[in-house]
Amino acid sequence: MTRDGVVLPPARQFIGGVFVEGAGGIEVVDPCTEEVVAVVPEGSAEDVDRAVAAAVAAKDGWARQLPRQRSESLHAIADRLAAEAESLSVLESVNTGKPLMVSRDDVGQAVDTFRFMAGAVRATTSLAAGEYAEDHLSVILREPLGVVGVVTPWNYRLLMAAWKIAPILAAGNTLVLKPSEQTPLTTLRFAELVADLLPPGVLNVVGGYGPVVGARLASHPDVDMIALTGSVHSGRAVARAAAESLKRVHLELGGKAPVLVFPDADLGAAAAALRVAGFWNSGQECGAACRVLVHASVAGEFTERLVAEVRGLVVGEPWDGADVEVGPMVSKAHFERVTGYLERARKDGVRAAVGGDPLDRRGYFVAPTVLVDVPEGAEAAREEIFGPVITVETFTDEDEAVRRANAVPYGLSASVWTGSTRLAQTVPARLDFGTVWVNSHLVLASEVPWGGFKGSGYGRDLSLYALDDYSRTKHVMQHRGR
Ligand code: NAD
Repeated sequence: MTRDGVVLPPARQFIGGVFVEGAGGIEVVDPCTEEVVAVVPEGSAEDVDRAVAAAVAAKDGWARQLPRQRSESLHAIADRLAAEAESLSVLESVNTGKPLMVSRDDVGQAVDTFRFMAGAVRATTSLAAGEYAEDHLSVILREPLGVVGVVTPWNYRLLMAAWKIAPILAAGNTLVLKPSEQTPLTTLRFAELVADLLPPGVLNVVGGYGPVVGARLASHPDVDMIALTGSVHSGRAVARAAAESLKRVHLELGGKAPVLVFPDADLGAAAAALRVAGFWNSGQECGAACRVLVHASVAGEFTERLVAEVRGLVVGEPWDGADVEVGPMVSKAHFERVTGYLERARKDGVRAAVGGDPLDRRGYFVAPTVLVDVPEGAEAAREEIFGPVITVETFTDEDEAVRRANAVPYGLSASVWTGSTRLAQTVPARLDFGTVWVNSHLVLASEVPWGGFKGSGYGRDLSLYALDDYSRTKHVMQHRGR
């Protein structure tokens, strides 16, 4: 597969079921070549207002559809995505430089998200009706919220869009989605592909910058909920803007996943798993296994194994082959952010056992890196670097491991590696993270929830919990005798 046959979507806004011209121009850059691949409109608050009006006009009709009818639309979307899987993967890789194995996985998971929500919406129910007060019958209804505003990040454009669009539509809402200004292409292509499968106005896409388009969505009085996947900084901005209209807020924010390796763990399996879980999507992954806490008694052996795995990673452009595991950082700004962390870590006395520098080639490539001699509280082990970098710290007992794992503002995901049944149960219970894997890391499924605690936000993507988040509960109580 090459990038030559890439199908670019219309560089316009998708409002009311059609593509419309937008003013201004944001350059979309291929991070492998540093070349501009498209110029997309820079949306305005007025564009958002037009899109919200279209979503409001469409909401009653969509909400009235039976679950079966909405389910059929979602299955049709899944079929369309599946039929275009390869062209979508290429487009995703052109826009972000991500290896084809990652793009293909993204598209496959996006298809599965639509299929799961298509089935789930037909099976979900609310509490059964019942008599809880004398002479009164209670009926509990599950209703759509209305119009949902969605803001997505650059790291998984198509997949994060699918994680929002599928449950929002399944639950009977309409939406206006703002993709990341850096990576809008697959979201626009998605809109193009499904335009004839949804009534006009049910799905709208307005590109542009966060503080303009995202902020207007968050404050718009006719938007009933705002859902954002992105950084803590953007999450705070959205929650503040949403406060005035008291709309619901759903936030999937950053992460800094600790990986607790106990002395009785299968060290080889852990190191091999981290080769994937630490460097998937070039480490630009909110659940990345980026912070190892290993028992001091096995730290030497484990680090050796991990470094050997990381040395073996295949780095390159997507078109270099299907075996490429690590690509470039998504943008120049992000490349500078990641290399800035590496420079400061070096000044703080932290040593790179492998990598530690940018790669000497075109594009925004950083060498896969393992940082060792990392002291407690070091910046590199505390903050989200969001690049191909794993830090290794050591601990001496279970309490210390748990205390230090929890000592970050994030609470998205973590993993525990042990051969002990007791530790496999007691340690996850003590960890403040929305997902805890045992002897695994970064395995997701449409049936199970994804979302964080603390600074990683609130609300859940995937699973029946997402359908709940995008619905409201109404109690109707009727007197039997009147
Ligand atoms: P970002 O916060 O810079 O941008 C995310 C989106 O928010 C973009 O569309 C941006 O335009 C928009 N935005 C920025 N300022 C805004 C404002 N004031 N109001 C409204 N919208 C605004 O994040 P990013 O750099 O695109 O993505 C990386 C971040 O996303 C990382 O922190 C990562 O951990 C997080 N992330 C989390 C998950 C999860 O499931 N928890 C998944 C993917 C990414």
